[in-house]
Amino acid sequence: MAEIRKKPRISREDALEALFTLAGPVGTERIPADDCCGRVLAEDFISAEAVPPFAKSPLDGYALRGEDTAEACPERPTVLEIVEEIAAGKAPQKTVQRGQAAKILTGAPIPDGANAVVRFEETRFTEETVTLTAPVRPDTDIVPAGDDVKPGQLIAKRGELITPPVAGLLAAVGRESVCVFRKPRITVVSTGNELTEPGVPLAYGKIRNSSYALLKGYMEAAGAVVSAASIVGDDVDAIARALWRSLEASDVVVTTGGVSVGDYDYVLAATEKLGARRLFWKVRFRPGGTMLAAEKEGKLILGLSGNPASASLGLFLIGLPFIRALCGLEKTPPKRTKARLLTPIEKDSPFGRLVRGRMELVDGEVCFRSVDSQGNGALTSLMGCDLIADIPPDTPPLPAGTLIDAYSLR
Ligand code: AMP
Ligand code: MG
Repeated sequence: MAEIRKKPRISREDALEALFTLAGPVGTERIPADDCCGRVLAEDFISAEAVPPFAKSPLDGYALRGEDTAEACPERPTVLEIVEEIAAGKAPQKTVQRGQAAKILTGAPIPDGANAVVRFEETRFTEETVTLTAPVRPDTDIVPAGDDVKPGQLIAKRGELITPPVAGLLAAVGRESVCVFRKPRITVVSTGNELTEPGVPLAYGKIRNSSYALLKGYMEAAGAVVSAASIVGDDVDAIARALWRSLEASDVVVTTGGVSVGDYDYVLAATEKLGARRLFWKVRFRPGGTMLAAEKEGKLILGLSGNPASASLGLFLIGLPFIRALCGLEKTPPKRTKARLLTPIEKDSPFGRLVRGRMELVDGEVCFRSVDSQGNGALTSLMGCDLIADIPPDTPPLPAGTLIDAYSLR
């Protein structure tokens, strides 16, 4: 054990790389296209239909032949005969001939023969005729068929997130179902003799299991389905058994607590007992870097700190990029940005430091406002937290105005 303790911490990049070697989508499924937002495409989405399917009018007016109006002026207006009215959803019945026009409403198909639309407001009209005092150039105010999407067009690729516009496009081209990657199933094993579930009276010295709900929220937002194993006490065999059962039922097992070097920290020993291969233990960041990754039959066991805030940081930097890859998204590290400190960082950071904060845009510049409490267990420090300052080792206290590097959670 003493020898392990001295081992230098693994870098964040190497830790993520180690997980990415395991990560691949966990399978595919076909789901209704009207319920697919937030899922990841497992097929290239190629349109089979044009959008719009026909040339249409973008406004209420008259469809006509532009050339018929070439001579129109206030002194010698052009008068056209109205041959029909075309409302949205109606197929035109007539061809617009020389000297004719069709009344047309927004979204209705342009009739054969017509090549331009003039809006109501620019005409004088009766039931029978429409009068123009200025020419209308051919192609004016016509939305061509396929203006938005052509048949055969690649709209989104396998591995892309289905955003609201992609969902809209699936509907626009008539798709009823879509092939997506299955959501990875994650079981969380909460370890700790002190843990008590909500609903059970708290004995003195016990605490609530808050990390589970917190981490479940973050992991589900990233695309996983998360469930809880029963709480296990600080006992190697009990933890190993819980890991075993959870691995059977899920794609990934996340543990909380017991992953440090304290007398009651048994998660590492439990993974060893299980014969899991250690990928890393302790990553170079704090708080939260005391985390464990082990692999059993291709599945990941990710051991996070028990402290809610520390566990969240481990999740943001290492866990969530891995989960996104399991969801079928690209293997990418967490997003980074430069940010200007709005509040000073008063402590020095001999080992480097992750500081929780909020992003504010000031005169178009990304700025960082640290949250008040930075306690490792402070759940409130995570409220609204969308920017994590990444202060490197050997950094003195930093005044407001300093430009820093940060992870963006947006
Ligand atoms: P550990 O990682 O086991 O050393 O725990 C670190 C701190 O987090 C201790 O104060 C624990 O009581 C607390 N803790 C452990 N598990 C949880 C949990 N599931 N929810 C809230 N706090 C926890
Ligand atoms: Mg503990």
